[in-house]
Amino acid sequence: MLDPEFLQYINHSCNPNVFFDTQKRVVIALGNIEIGEEFTFFYPSTEWSMDRGFDCICQSENCLEYIQGASHLPPNVLKKYKLSQYIQQKLKKDDDKNAL
Ligand SMILES: [Zn+2]
Repeated sequence: MLDPEFLQYINHSCNPNVFFDTQKRVVIALGNIEIGEEFTFFYPSTEWSMDRGFDCICQSENCLEYIQGASHLPPNVLKKYKLSQYIQQKLKKDDDKNAL
């Protein structure tokens, strides 16, 4: 079971066209979305570490190939994405740990 639950209904893409703001509970378009185009969402933008990762088949140029949450991705990759506040806080905590 994915959390938040809506993730079950939307496919992951490494080149997503929507972002879910889980705090404000709004969906934000990340670019122009054509009529009939499938909504895709970058799972690690809300998932820190997933119980079960999966092989990505999004076929985008920048495909990360294996998705297991933000904690498994390097910061320079995550930097390119819009991330939930939850993930940003997690990243910050990680940074603080590394600084010690
Ligand atoms: Zn991908």
